[in-house]
Amino acid sequence: MALSNSQYDEIFRTYDERQLHNQHVIERRTKEAYAQIPGLKEIDDAIASCSVAQARKLLDGDSDALEELKQQLDAYRSKKAALLKEHGLSSDYFKPSYTCPDCKDTGYINGERCHCFKQAAIRMIYTQSNLKEVLEKENFNTFSYDYYSSEDINPATGRSSLDTIKDAVAKCHYFIDHFDDEFNNLYFYGDTGIGKTFLSNCIAKELLDRGYSVIYFTAFQLFDILGKDKFGRNENASDAHQNIFDCDLLIIDDLGTELSNSFTSSQLFLCLNERILRRKSTIISTNLRMNQLADIYSERVLSRISSSYTVMNLFGADIRILKRYR
Ligand SMILES: [Zn+2]
Repeated sequence: MALSNSQYDEIFRTYDERQLHNQHVIERRTKEAYAQIPGLKEIDDAIASCSVAQARKLLDGDSDALEELKQQLDAYRSKKAALLKEHGLSSDYFKPSYTCPDCKDTGYINGERCHCFKQAAIRMIYTQSNLKEVLEKENFNTFSYDYYSSEDINPATGRSSLDTIKDAVAKCHYFIDHFDDEFNNLYFYGDTGIGKTFLSNCIAKELLDRGYSVIYFTAFQLFDILGKDKFGRNENASDAHQNIFDCDLLIIDDLGTELSNSFTSSQLFLCLNERILRRKSTIISTNLRMNQLADIYSERVLSRISSSYTVMNLFGADIRILKRYR
């Protein structure tokens, strides 16, 4: 990861803050519970001294005493659980509610960086901080079929706008549900305002929520970063490439709106090809039809996309215009 020391510190400050917050919550709850539930503190004290005694006996290697202490501990714990239940509290009332239960807000699992750390680093490196806010608004819960008509028929396919989008949404769900066990890539193409970016965002949200690392770029941003990297202006040169090649999902939005040239053509091929070799999924959204890919980029780009991508041709009216008149 191309993190500077200060960025690294900033991420860890967030983890420290979360841990501190959790600790305060637990302390407050404990204090309140002790005040309300007679006998609870005594049980906790007994559990604590029993645990200390157990640790000492463990050092002595006294297995009979250990077994006895274990039984005592179990008895105290079930007594505590019963007492809490009596007062309408569950036994995990005193367990912290972690932002990331997988690493318990430490950023590490068995010495390896947690997925939440990777995503925090991606956000920081690529200033993707606004992605989260976008995804709050654009996700499957806010997606609406109202903008797609069953009477608007695509002459090329004979299918309505509504049928086409329903089909696309089903394929998106399939993509998400089989993200781990089936390598797949998506290619959304169609006119402006048809919901291509919205669908990409829906997928990004689902996968981020499941702990995968996702990078979102417009084509313009992607080539800008790869260009800086290529010409050595970026001190962490190959790191930017590594993240782009390695993240679980890369979204390239608005492909074809950048200024294309031989550089973008070769970089696009490199990027798509590397990700296919590493079996990392990519979503492309674009106004470009498949046959334009060869003209604008290269035959090689066309061939990679046609062999490894699920192609979806979205069709319908411009939603941005529809929204304005409703
Ligand atoms: Zn985590």
